[in-house]
Amino acid sequence: MADDMEGLQMTTTRFDTYRHARYAWDDEVAGRLDPVERLVYRSNLLGADRRITNTGGGNTSSKLRMPDPVTDDVVDVLWVKGSGGDLRTVSREHFASFDLARLHALRERYERSPERGPKTPAEDAMVDLYVHAVFGANPRPGSIDTPLHAFVPFRHVDHTHPDAVIAIAAAADGRRLAQEVYGDEVGWVDWQRPGVELGLQIAAACAARPDLRGVIMGQHGLICWDDDDKGCYETTLELIERAGRFIEARAAEAAAFGGPRVRALGDDERRRLLVEVLPRLRGLVSSERRFIATVQDDERVRAFIDSVDAPRLSELGTSCPDHFLRTKIKPLYVPWHPDHADVEGLLTAVEDGLRRYRDDYRTYYGAHAPAEAPAMRDPNPTVILIPGVGMVTFGRNKSE
Ligand SMILES: [Zn+2]
Repeated sequence: MADDMEGLQMTTTRFDTYRHARYAWDDEVAGRLDPVERLVYRSNLLGADRRITNTGGGNTSSKLRMPDPVTDDVVDVLWVKGSGGDLRTVSREHFASFDLARLHALRERYERSPERGPKTPAEDAMVDLYVHAVFGANPRPGSIDTPLHAFVPFRHVDHTHPDAVIAIAAAADGRRLAQEVYGDEVGWVDWQRPGVELGLQIAAACAARPDLRGVIMGQHGLICWDDDDKGCYETTLELIERAGRFIEARAAEAAAFGGPRVRALGDDERRRLLVEVLPRLRGLVSSERRFIATVQDDERVRAFIDSVDAPRLSELGTSCPDHFLRTKIKPLYVPWHPDHADVEGLLTAVEDGLRRYRDDYRTYYGAHAPAEAPAMRDPNPTVILIPGVGMVTFGRNKSE
């Protein structure tokens, strides 16, 4: 544990105002809560801002001193968001609890194993052993991210998938950009599947540089920590804000996405098109499962959709694997021009685009799925970009 580090950790709120995250911590509310409730509170605040983490993505933890129910000895207990649930709405029951000493014993056992390594049977076998380290007969299973939290030698850990940080993490020269944004305050680990090995890499980074405040996980997201829970929350927000402002400054220097390609339609025109197109679109996308739609047509999303580079960039697909669980590997960009096409033209472009998208998905699945892979998912897109109009996303419920 990092008790010996406490004098070194500084909690600073670096920004008075945030543009890339919403600061929502309220000392009065937090002050009325017990330590596990404070963890739930922190998680809900982080999850409520979709720029900080995606639906169902990310996890949080606190290492708390508690009496063992059998011996009454006070032990370190890791409370960490378990499998299932969304940070925005999680409650106490969504958190797994582990005897931290036993998790460390498991780690030592793994480190002694000669066959260990990324994606080895030895690494996979660890997941089934966590249940033997459960504290307090808590039935919530731990997630694959448990080691990320257990092995970081600080009391509180946030792992999120923030838009602004992923933009850095998924860039071709992400490591250099991260260095430019954060200097030596934040480390970097290349993409690796979540699990024990990733947890050990982050633990090694902490051991090598005890003043590190967090790590950017390549192609993935952010993990950061503090010995104070509010400090951990503020560190997450600060690191996101710094990435956001870095990108903002770059965007001001050059036309983002190659500049605009199509004229933005007026609010009334957009609405009229959506009223005519949405019911048909929803029917087409729901060919296998019933979906509901969410429309986003603010200036920020249209700056991308209406840009010169949008058709090309859309084909590159989603950067973060945790996102494409829901977004599919890429959005459907509808090749339609708002200047010289009517509703019928748009519907034809949507139908052609959907056919092409489903064929692409079947080809992709056929090319990459090993024999033991799960059955092919619904080949319909969940994100549809319509130039001049906006983004229409689909899910089984509003949250998805
Ligand atoms: Zn993650």
